[in-house]
Amino acid sequence: MRYHIWTIGCQMNEADSRRLAAALEQLGYEPAARAEDADVIVLNTCVVRQQAEDKVYGRLSSLRPLKARRPDTVIGLMGCLVGRRNSEHLRERFPWVDVFAPPSDPTPLLDHLAERGLAEMGRALRAEDAARRIPGPFLLSCQAQGSQVTAYVPAVLGCSHACTYCIIPYRRGPERSRPADETLAEARALVAQGVKEITLLGQIVDRYGYDLPRQENRTPLVGLLEQLHEIEGLERIRFLTSHPSWMTDELLEAAARLPKVCEHLEVPVQAGDDEILARMRRGYTADDYRRLIARARAIVPGVSIATDIIVGFPGETEAQFQRTYDLLTELRLDKAHIARYSPRPQTLAARRYPDDVPPEEKERRRKVLDELQARIAGEINARLVGQTVEVLVEGKKKNRWWGRTRTDKLVFFEDARDLLGQQVPVRITWAGPWSLIGETGSR
Ligand code: SF4
Repeated sequence: MRYHIWTIGCQMNEADSRRLAAALEQLGYEPAARAEDADVIVLNTCVVRQQAEDKVYGRLSSLRPLKARRPDTVIGLMGCLVGRRNSEHLRERFPWVDVFAPPSDPTPLLDHLAERGLAEMGRALRAEDAARRIPGPFLLSCQAQGSQVTAYVPAVLGCSHACTYCIIPYRRGPERSRPADETLAEARALVAQGVKEITLLGQIVDRYGYDLPRQENRTPLVGLLEQLHEIEGLERIRFLTSHPSWMTDELLEAAARLPKVCEHLEVPVQAGDDEILARMRRGYTADDYRRLIARARAIVPGVSIATDIIVGFPGETEAQFQRTYDLLTELRLDKAHIARYSPRPQTLAARRYPDDVPPEEKERRRKVLDELQARIAGEINARLVGQTVEVLVEGKKKNRWWGRTRTDKLVFFEDARDLLGQQVPVRITWAGPWSLIGETGSR
């Protein structure tokens, strides 16, 4: 019996797929590289933008003839397209899908498989983990064991912030922090299987623990980072995505103080204009964000910072877009993911504000920011040429090893030794906006 999981979207989906793969392997399934060769096919979906949703529909349609040819194949749909509510409309629209599972919750899928003959193992798993809705005991899939160097560990599920453009709270539900012992147990299990770097995940990861019993006046994520830091064999820790309003000095100080915590932050600004930020309901101004970046740079030496930006939010004028351009120019961040606004069903922005920036204008603004950011990132990275950086080696592509610096820069280099999972000093010889090339002095 074989399974195939197709994943699109955020790191949380990647983490969910990894856990699902492990749960399926506990049921006796083996991985299949192609959907055509699998007995169980799962699409782990994203609807954060229309483009991602359309890709899921394309993939779903391609499975229809396969299901007609081989009706015994189990087809599962999981993730944000399903959401946490009634999936009846999806059942009607995609009758060739057997089972629907919400984000971070493979229980319906495991139940379905259990009913189809693998009951004992499936039931045991389900009973053990029903309360927290996450499968344990956090094994890597057999493909990944011994070869996976980095792993995502969800710390906060869902989101209660309700930015007006965002569908995630409707699909992933309200914010829930996982208990620290469970999160740490998962991290320990992954490290025991060879993982060297853990990234804690949350839609607002710096909100971690505010819904759990806690010590007053402490940033709860700091406590979790400190405990994670104690895990022997774990070499690097990251956390994402942070919300500017919850990035406390205590958290930044912990990032500077704990050697395993990498000096890299993912903290989306989304826009540089205060009126747009207010209509997005982000909860801060452009000046608040400027102050955050200044604090981060003062507290965490050498920190690299990535941001997200949405262009073409309803009503965004040329002058408002220019303020975003100016902010990016001024702050000179290491990375910026630029997305065109896409109205999402249920969201306040889709209901209240007409999507009035034409598609070609959104695309123009996206390109303008992309080009600006490519220039800035190219200039920042060029300063690394001639320097030696520490690279955690994650894999090999076309005879070149690749890995990341602590500041999340992608580095390629050649070396005949087996360096997978090792931290290697690499002297940078070439730098572009998206990656670096270097040498170790050994070939
Ligand atoms: S913080 Fe805003 S953008 Fe991020 S997941 Fe929550 S609602 Fe969506």
